[in-house]
Amino acid sequence: KTILLSIEFIDIANVQCTLLIANDITERKRLENEFISLVSHELRTPLTSIMGALDILGAGKLGTMSEQAQKVLSIATSNTERLIRLVNDILDLERMKSSKIVMHKVKCNAVDIMVQATEAMQAMADNSQVQLVVNPLNVELWADSDRLLQTLTNLISNAIKFSETSDTVWIGAEVIEDKGNSLSASSCASNSLLITVRDQGRGIPEDKLQTIFERFQQVDASDSRKKGGTGLGLAICRNIVQQHNGRIWAESTLGEGSTFYVLLPLASS
Ligand code: ADP
Repeated sequence: KTILLSIEFIDIANVQCTLLIANDITERKRLENEFISLVSHELRTPLTSIMGALDILGAGKLGTMSEQAQKVLSIATSNTERLIRLVNDILDLERMKSSKIVMHKVKCNAVDIMVQATEAMQAMADNSQVQLVVNPLNVELWADSDRLLQTLTNLISNAIKFSETSDTVWIGAEVIEDKGNSLSASSCASNSLLITVRDQGRGIPEDKLQTIFERFQQVDASDSRKKGGTGLGLAICRNIVQQHNGRIWAESTLGEGSTFYVLLPLASS
């Protein structure tokens, strides 16, 4: 259920009264979500066709273009790519929320996922002149490796995006001993893996540390335009981590950097 709470101050016969209103907006939210995913679905086909047309122009199959025309084409292409990313992210998130995406969990090694995620983001890091340092841990997880890879690449991509030239991003891991407040629902002791992605970027204000995991929530309204994001990445990460019975959160100091934590249960041996 989603309940919207609001307070109103009213005057009744010269007496100041406080009115607490609780509104059940569950149905409204459901219709909103349904509408967003319907529109996104309808947008995907024409967007793919626009992208195809732009690719043909870009490849010079219809004749050579002036430098100015190439510039205009590159703006159109990057904005179309951004829209396609947005539409795909919305559909991905909606499918996960409605459990239409099942996690295919198998035994996998944290080393493979951490190294693959770092390799996948190396080109982006090189372009931004950011150094990636990975310290993987050889432990086994019971996880959907593609989805965990998606989570890690998302966190590393954000860390690069919000870093300055010649900054470093560290990707690390450690095993955390279960002390009763673990991820495991059972009473038997089990250890968890804590993956960290730490950057030296601009940081995140304290009051935004939780909200950034909600969809379309960004620290700065211009982030999606300037950084090319959709505001959905962390919402998707949180969904994936939760479906692994894990936890994701962030800590940050403004101007000094941020650390994102992903805590996952280890596969029992
Ligand atoms: P986006 O596609 O905009 O990156 P995310 O959901 O991944 O969407 O992130 C939401 C917002 O959280 C970002 O737009 C940015 O404002 C903030 N954010 C995420 N990661 C970082 C980071 N490492 N450093 C600073 N801000 C970050």
